[in-house]
Amino acid sequence: MKLFIPDIAYIDPRSLKYPAGKSVKEYLDKLNIPIINSRKVVIEGKSPQQNYAKAKRTVYITINLEKKLKSCKPSSDYQFSLSSSCPGHCEYCYLQTTQGEKPFMKVFVNIEDILSVIQQHIEINLPNITSFECGSITDPVALEHLTGNLKKCIEFFGSSNNGRLRVITKFDNVDSFLNINHNKHTKFRFSINTRDVINKFEHNTSTFEERISAAKKIATAGYPIGFIVAPIMIYDSWKDDYKELIHRLKVELEGYNDEISFELIQHRFTSTAKELILTRFPDTQLDMNEEARQLKWGPYGKFKYVYPKEKSSEIKEYISELIKTNFKNSIIEYFT
Ligand code: SF4
Repeated sequence: MKLFIPDIAYIDPRSLKYPAGKSVKEYLDKLNIPIINSRKVVIEGKSPQQNYAKAKRTVYITINLEKKLKSCKPSSDYQFSLSSSCPGHCEYCYLQTTQGEKPFMKVFVNIEDILSVIQQHIEINLPNITSFECGSITDPVALEHLTGNLKKCIEFFGSSNNGRLRVITKFDNVDSFLNINHNKHTKFRFSINTRDVINKFEHNTSTFEERISAAKKIATAGYPIGFIVAPIMIYDSWKDDYKELIHRLKVELEGYNDEISFELIQHRFTSTAKELILTRFPDTQLDMNEEARQLKWGPYGKFKYVYPKEKSSEIKEYISELIKTNFKNSIIEYFT
């Protein structure tokens, strides 16, 4: 897909001390993007919808001063961030409720400091392997063209004996990762869904075809790979559509013999998320009918609405079976 270019950028003056800060400024200058030197981002839309849309076109170039990384169990030991928010407009995005009314993107340029904090966490845990997730509050691939920082991270982990990285994305901007020394220490997981779900709900992200083609490139470059099939939704042709998805993956990944992991997540929503989604996407076709759902207590202290037991079991069995029959080298990590 076309690389994301913001309408406006704010630059924290502290960013300009770092090479990536200077280069992103030059990049945006060449494109004539208005740049404001400030440590405060101002977005003043006339409605919550306008605030959301404007924020998703605004980047703030800044630095990440986090010294003590948060735990990210069970998927990894720790999480760190090269950016926050992302240019996607996924209607169901789980970040909707955590990033406030104006989810502008922060791009962190002090990669040297970020890698040094990661190294300290690896050293504390020696001689064990320490794993890191970098997609908990952002899509790390979507903004990569602005800094090249994910590539630097992959190279860092490639030469680290005890550090491992996990990347998750819905974007296909992967060419800069193909010919680098990753040493199989970075695992790429592609968030994938049926054409229908992607087209209806995952605006401004890479298409079904683009994501599959990116996954194929990454697999051919020898990275460990996995897929997050999420959110799995039930609709008229869901069975045929998920079958098409798994078959396409099988065809495109023919010849990739390493293990492929699958994480399966059914669609869910909380009352707070529903309210926010309806404000931002008043015409949404997301199925958020509480009466057709079952309440489940979530780990973040909130009830969420999931499919009733009978339906969620059907999803789990149907998709697991599709995966097992098409991928002998698959491992289904969980269904939730
Ligand atoms: S790409 Fe990921 S982080 Fe970005 S809006 Fe979509 S779900 Fe949210």
